[in-house]
Amino acid sequence: MKTTRGPGQSVSRPITYGSYQYPNGQNGSKESEEKQRENGALLPKRVPDHLKSQSRTTRWLWILVAVSLFIALVFSATIVHLSSQGEGIKSEASDILFDYIVVGGGPSGIIVASKLARKFPSLKVLLLESGTDSQASVLQATAGDSKSSSFAFEGFVDGDDAATLNSFDVPLLWSGLAGTRRGQWPFPPVMNVSDFPWHGHRWPIEKTLLARALGGCGLHNAMLYVRALPSDFDLWNVSGWSYEHMVKHYKELETFKDDGPIPPFWSNTTDSNDSHRGESGPIMTIPAGYGVDAVAPLFVESALQAGFPLASRGFNSGGAHGRSGVGYYEFNIRDGVRDSVARAFLAGKSKPKNLIVQTGATVTRVLMDAQRKGPRAYGVEYMTNNGRRIGRYALRDRERAEIILAAGAIMSPQLLVNSGIGPDGSVVQLEGVGKNLQDHPVVGISFEMNPELMLDSSSVYTIGDELEDYLQTVSELRALRLMDINLTSTQRNPLNQRLGTLGTSGFSAGGFLTSPWAVDNVPDIQLTVFPRQIEPHITQHRNYQETGRLRSRILLVTVALLSPEARFVITPGKVPATVNTTDQKDQSVRTFSNSSGTPVARIKKLKLPYIDIPPDRKQYLTSGDTQRLVWGLQQVRKIHETAPMSMHTGDEVYPGSHVSDEALVQYVHENALTNSHFVGTSRMGTAKQQDAVVDQRLRVIGVRGLRVVDGGVIPTVPNGNTHSTIAVVASHGADLIANDRIDKEG
Ligand SMILES: Cc1cc2nc3c(=O)[nH]c(=O)nc-3n(C[C@H](O)[C@H](O)[C@H](O)COP(=O)(O)OP(=O)(O)OC[C@H]3O[C@@H](n4cnc5c(N)ncnc54)[C@H](O)[C@@H]3O)c2cc1C
Repeated sequence: MKTTRGPGQSVSRPITYGSYQYPNGQNGSKESEEKQRENGALLPKRVPDHLKSQSRTTRWLWILVAVSLFIALVFSATIVHLSSQGEGIKSEASDILFDYIVVGGGPSGIIVASKLARKFPSLKVLLLESGTDSQASVLQATAGDSKSSSFAFEGFVDGDDAATLNSFDVPLLWSGLAGTRRGQWPFPPVMNVSDFPWHGHRWPIEKTLLARALGGCGLHNAMLYVRALPSDFDLWNVSGWSYEHMVKHYKELETFKDDGPIPPFWSNTTDSNDSHRGESGPIMTIPAGYGVDAVAPLFVESALQAGFPLASRGFNSGGAHGRSGVGYYEFNIRDGVRDSVARAFLAGKSKPKNLIVQTGATVTRVLMDAQRKGPRAYGVEYMTNNGRRIGRYALRDRERAEIILAAGAIMSPQLLVNSGIGPDGSVVQLEGVGKNLQDHPVVGISFEMNPELMLDSSSVYTIGDELEDYLQTVSELRALRLMDINLTSTQRNPLNQRLGTLGTSGFSAGGFLTSPWAVDNVPDIQLTVFPRQIEPHITQHRNYQETGRLRSRILLVTVALLSPEARFVITPGKVPATVNTTDQKDQSVRTFSNSSGTPVARIKKLKLPYIDIPPDRKQYLTSGDTQRLVWGLQQVRKIHETAPMSMHTGDEVYPGSHVSDEALVQYVHENALTNSHFVGTSRMGTAKQQDAVVDQRLRVIGVRGLRVVDGGVIPTVPNGNTHSTIAVVASHGADLIANDRIDKEG
């Protein structure tokens, strides 16, 4: 804290690099010098003799004052330096001031930062991301920026996406990447799931998949494009956030291209809701088309035979009614490459020149001034990935400049608490911080495939399997090395074998079913059909040692609850007083790999949050939640027993046919997983609502100059995968921020 500005001290001074600042705005020109001389403000050029000795004495006096000031400055600088050395790190304050500092380079952060930078080309916007991985074209475009101290305001490399790809670009590799720890927060890897049983009130966070990369979870997600339903926004019940306000953003962000091959059962009939689709937005959305896998049409036809309706236009048309039933998903893929928010907004020439992207910078807290008008955010403190350097970035002014937290629903609450904002906050007490965490709890059910289906469904995956196994194994081996775990040759052999020898997501069909307990006939169960066991939340939970070859023998259907009563609470890790420990026993000391996969950087005293069950609850799921998930599993069994699926598949692998319908309750309790669709922990509302953290303009209640714009602000989890809805929240949030500046500037 020693190098930060004191309360009330202005940050709006211009940066001066040694040039003299003339008082009253005078510019030092010859003309103004003459004027001042006439007014007696400057000494005449020639000094009369009788004044010379007086002038000499004055000069000596000035020299004495200057030397004393210099000594005082050196002394205080030494004190500051020594105290920061005492913390085991170097502390430095940046002399570059920003108009907006956005924390977190996930989909929400990238959209907010890019939109603000584009809207105000003369302002400086900084995007800080903890991770260093990204898609190849994004890394190229931001390469100059990330050399932390030398900021590249221009001269980025034009991305040639076709020429440069890395594994994050290849759609099929999503599950392999998400299933490994690459580009993720450094939770320890799970070697054997039985070592990490579901223990009562605390979710084993090491099983939570959470990206730490430029692009956030949009870098390793399944690219499924599912919008929220109009009724979801009604449930949010926040003024200015109705479906009518938000549909504009869905349209603005997407280019919907419906010109691929027509999947079986796909209806050609256009309906009126097609006017809700975007035609020229930065992110491509395509129907499954080319990517329809061998299992998908079997599943869809069996479900139709079993009496479920057909969602003939990909789940995003016609509101709740159009979504109900089985059909094919849409994906964010462009020409066979992941079309993430990162790629759409940062690659090539898309990145605005006044947007500076710094990766490898983990923000530890927001710096705040206590002012007469209440606390005001004026900067952030961050540490570099090796944990040895702390830096600070400050805002240019305290009227219009702002800090925007977009670190995601899990990490933003930790940052708020680190900054003194939370239930026991020293700066502002906000009960709702970290509460109300929602997700789509998910369970899996799997079946053997007959040999001919297995061949059909797995042949396209051969290369993918090998690469996936390879990446996962390399990552596991590195993690073991970092943890100093030595395997015996018997333990190591299977890993070595997996080291041996790419544009769809690898699955295409799904369904939105309406259980008997659904409210207003809005679907409450989502099915996703994987032609082999690739869903990373499930594979993490199952036997971690199953190889791709084994996984390709079984198909998997995930059953997710769309409107859960279940809630989690984020318990922030203990707030670090300083960043100073080398205590190996300290659980907060985590190891991880850098962007090129090179070990071993250490984040010291990085306090990661925990995901807990609210204290007043005994179980994560309520009995109503369990009942609906059990019903979902039963519907999958029914579809599996119906032709043509029944003719091409074998036994149920898990839960297994021996698990009766009654016993499914227990199965759900023991196997319900998080789905990484986290929302709700900084929920928006009015200041009068006890759990509200931000108001309807996404300003943190009680603090000036600080907003949260990420999945956390969404009050109730939407009806479907969260990415597209978090993107529109960010797009709308950016507009609110921009409009507030315009209003202030009159
Ligand atoms: C495996 C997986 C599959 C998924 N599949 C789909 C799908 O197919 N379709 C869909 O719609 N949704 C999917 N999702 C969910 C979707 O990707 C997320 O809802 C969305 O990415 C959340 O966006 P966000 O910006 O709120 O947070 P995030 O994506 O989590 O981004 C937050 C960013 O902030 C950074 N950050 C955090 N703390 C700090 C700090 N202190 N300092 C600096 N940076 C920080 C993080 O590193 C991260 O990059 C999936 C998620 C996962 C994990």
